[in-house]
Amino acid sequence: MYAFTFERPASLADAQRAAQAGGAKVLAGGQTLLASMKLRLANPETLVDLGGIPELAGVRREGNHVVIGAMTRHADVATNPDVKSALPALAELAAGIGDRQVRAMGTLGGSVANNDPAACYPAGVLALNATVQTTKRKIAADDFFQGMFTTALEEGELITAVSFPQAKRAAYIKFKQPASRFALIGVFVAQTDSGVRVAVTGGGNGVFRHAGLEQALAKNFTPEAAAAVKIDPSQYSSDLHGSAAYRANLVSVLTQRAVAKALGQ
Ligand SMILES: Cc1cc2nc3c(=O)[nH]c(=O)nc-3n(C[C@H](O)[C@H](O)[C@H](O)COP(=O)(O)OP(=O)(O)OC[C@H]3O[C@@H](n4cnc5c(N)ncnc54)[C@H](O)[C@@H]3O)c2cc1C
Repeated sequence: MYAFTFERPASLADAQRAAQAGGAKVLAGGQTLLASMKLRLANPETLVDLGGIPELAGVRREGNHVVIGAMTRHADVATNPDVKSALPALAELAAGIGDRQVRAMGTLGGSVANNDPAACYPAGVLALNATVQTTKRKIAADDFFQGMFTTALEEGELITAVSFPQAKRAAYIKFKQPASRFALIGVFVAQTDSGVRVAVTGGGNGVFRHAGLEQALAKNFTPEAAAAVKIDPSQYSSDLHGSAAYRANLVSVLTQRAVAKALGQ
């Protein structure tokens, strides 16, 4: 590790000011950022720790939405009574992230801002048609994720919360990469009054929606309808953990299981 300045603002306004300075980076739980700094893949001049800003953490209900603060740790999302009752699939997603230490420190905002192509939260945010709230604006999930480790966030723009509309039915199932516990493939299925959204993570260049599965499940929300959709392997990445054909097959199988789970079968 090399020398840097550490700031711990107590208000969002101060954090925003500090984050806008050249060479600054915000620190959430440090689960990705500190490892990147140790490897010298990131070398911020100033680290702006968001851990001292109380309004960035916590869960609140707003009508039929659940709003989760950016600094809310995965372990707190997993056990929060409002998330568990309104969006049990999201609570389960959080409970399945990494290991106990990662869940104790990792945050919703850090995960979404980082947009790791195998991360779980981006699938939940996209499938549930959530809105990312920032210090500047509100960004629809469809516009937020822009490919591997890339989002719509501008320099110095901070995520403050993510607002999730309640779904009629939803479920997330991932096939874990056994070493990291990230998703080799993860599928989040959500049925709402306006249709069905299916988000796939771990497949390639970042989280994406699967139009074929969405159309089939909008007509007939059953595992059989998902099974009838042909998944084109050419869309998927291939590496030492699994071939493109293996990943494509996982998308089919996990979608069928997620639909069955959402139906309580
Ligand atoms: C061993 C291990 C296993 C893991 N397994 C999983 C898994 O199974 N599933 C999964 O989804 N994830 C997994 N993760 C990722 C983990 O869930 C963290 O959320 C992720 O590493 C980001 O960490 P963090 O929240 O501590 O953010 P940090 O590492 O502190 O920050 C990450 C990036 O986001 C930026 N950032 C942070 N907060 C904000 C904000 N509010 N606004 C704007 N930018 C911000 C930072 O500047 C930085 O660039 C794993 C991580 C590890 C180390």
